[in-house]
Amino acid sequence: ILEEDEMINFVSSAEQEQAALSQAEVQKQSIQEVRRSLPVFPYREDLLLAIQQHQILVIEGETGSGKTTQIPQFLMESGYNDGGMKIGCTQPRRVAAMSVAARVAQEVGVKLGNEVGYSIRFEDCTSERTVLKYMTDGMLLREFLTEPDLASYSVVIIDEAHERTLHTDILFGLIKDIARFRPDLKVLVASATLDTERFSCFFDDAPVFRIPGRRFPVDIFYTKAPEADYLEACVVSVLQIHVTQPPGDCLVFLTGQEEIETCCELLQERCRRLGSKISELLVLPIYANLPSDMQAKIFSPTPPGSRKVVVATNIAETSLTIDGIIYVIDPGFCKQKSYNARTGMESLIVTPCSRASANQRAGRAGRVAAGKCFRLYTAWAFKHEMEESTVPEIQRTNLGNVVLLLKSLGINDLIHFDFMDPPPHETLVLALEQLYALGALNHLGELTKVTYCSEEVLTIAAMLSVNNSIFYRPKDKVVHADNARQNFVVPGGDHMVLLNVYTQWLESGYSTQWCYENFIQFRSMKRARDVREQLEGLMDRIEVEVCSSGGDIVPIRKAVTAGYFYHTARLSKGGYKTVKHQQTVYVHPNSSLFEEQPRWLIYHELVFTTKEFMRQVIEIDSSWLLEVAPHYYKNKELEDSSSKKMPRKQGKAKEELG
Ligand code: ADP
Ligand code: MG
Repeated sequence: ILEEDEMINFVSSAEQEQAALSQAEVQKQSIQEVRRSLPVFPYREDLLLAIQQHQILVIEGETGSGKTTQIPQFLMESGYNDGGMKIGCTQPRRVAAMSVAARVAQEVGVKLGNEVGYSIRFEDCTSERTVLKYMTDGMLLREFLTEPDLASYSVVIIDEAHERTLHTDILFGLIKDIARFRPDLKVLVASATLDTERFSCFFDDAPVFRIPGRRFPVDIFYTKAPEADYLEACVVSVLQIHVTQPPGDCLVFLTGQEEIETCCELLQERCRRLGSKISELLVLPIYANLPSDMQAKIFSPTPPGSRKVVVATNIAETSLTIDGIIYVIDPGFCKQKSYNARTGMESLIVTPCSRASANQRAGRAGRVAAGKCFRLYTAWAFKHEMEESTVPEIQRTNLGNVVLLLKSLGINDLIHFDFMDPPPHETLVLALEQLYALGALNHLGELTKVTYCSEEVLTIAAMLSVNNSIFYRPKDKVVHADNARQNFVVPGGDHMVLLNVYTQWLESGYSTQWCYENFIQFRSMKRARDVREQLEGLMDRIEVEVCSSGGDIVPIRKAVTAGYFYHTARLSKGGYKTVKHQQTVYVHPNSSLFEEQPRWLIYHELVFTTKEFMRQVIEIDSSWLLEVAPHYYKNKELEDSSSKKMPRKQGKAKEELG
């Protein structure tokens, strides 16, 4: 897939020496030497002066220049934490918050969780002594609930601002607001070299402090023709690099855990087959759900004579910097939440990444020496098929969530909220209407209290939040795993299956052994339990009673219908059609209702792989739709004209799914 002649031309001894040299250098440098070698270091005094002079400062710097790890230390060293005041630094990703905090604690020479700590959902690694706190942007939002003016902070750093996550965008508005009546609060908005003018403009023309980058040239290669199977193409490219290119580690960008695991397995498998014909290739995955000891491995230096290949999600695009990367393989895709305002549907889909993303990815190859980036798409596709930059999450999300979040923070006037990129007015109004129709807001637009069979629904909600990683299906035990999964099937649909799994686990005393025996992922269950406890705590706080339907599954299915009535699909020729928009969709082969194919379904989410699949479906009675959403459905839309003929067609539907 790479051009032969280019491949052979790569071998240049000067390059080889440079790579080997800088690797060895990094290894023998002490932590302090590394700190001093970072691009931000010479600007320490200028930066501190600028921070002193301005309340809000935008900081722009190449990824890896030391923004995240160094600037908070500069602030600590010059007394911004005096009197126990805190310095907070937000990260869009959990992994980044944890990993960066660990690194900084090590640099400062303290135990993680003491002076330097981190806080992510369900994991608070801070203490009374903590003055430097790394956290996800979502956690800082949560802090507004208990401390609306962030009085315990002297500095807030909104890091990775260019990612424009939903939470970061909301933080922009909130922080800009509190900065007005907290003149002592310093606000730093840190970003990779993207979009900084826009941040400055939003924060009333705040000055931009630019940290000049230090970048080696990166040669970019494209494929001649589009690649049909980018996963396979990645594997081949890694091996090609490994056998033909000088030393230097390799970074591969994939879209999620499943893909990453498959890629790592394939690589290991092929290396085993090649045996001693090739030198050692260390294959290391990195994604959000990876246990933290495994995460830490990507940073350990590569032993001489071997090569490291890190297979990563977008996390390695700007949030984490792995030293020693010379080669980048970029298939050009990422997993993105997308929202269709017309259908009201939100789904997670694999889409081409933006040109800005692709350029960031390529840049990762040029940090320690001249590097190479192999794009598994054509130059034409780069120019014509990719968007210039990634659309901010707030523009492609169901605003229902945003509205609920802001309302819970006490912000009632959403129309005038200071968004950097305001969501379309009509979409916001639509979200308000939908929440009103759901009974989540009253006629004054205030949050209401709603109770159904809350005991079971709490569990289902918690399980759905981790739903794609509950069942464990190792490649060598597929049959056992599928049997185990089949044993959990109960009538009603996937939501009921999830409830059943959780209930049985609870009855086992939350046992690890039980999970192991039933091919259930313990980590995911533990997480579901955390989510459930947190939701229960929130219900308690707003005084909503937790009550059970006592084994009756109808109220539970009705509750799901009440919440997701706009996700209804009806059986039709060869598959399903969504009721409102007549979009053709299919039951996911993993679903408990795959065989049964009931006439009416509500799905939790749509995923597009080979087809538009409904994941997590529950069987409903169409009359419930008129009961819970009379404002949304007309009787005529729900008529069953073909009730007798339908069941015959099920076989065909299954065949088509393959
Ligand atoms: P920026 O925020 O500007 O992208 P960082 O502060 O994250 O840069 O990283 C600066 C440098 O710190 C990196 O180049 C790397 O050398 C080092 N570093 C960061 N995190 C770790 C880690 N977990 N382990 C080892 N080194 C790290
Ligand atoms: Mg950073």
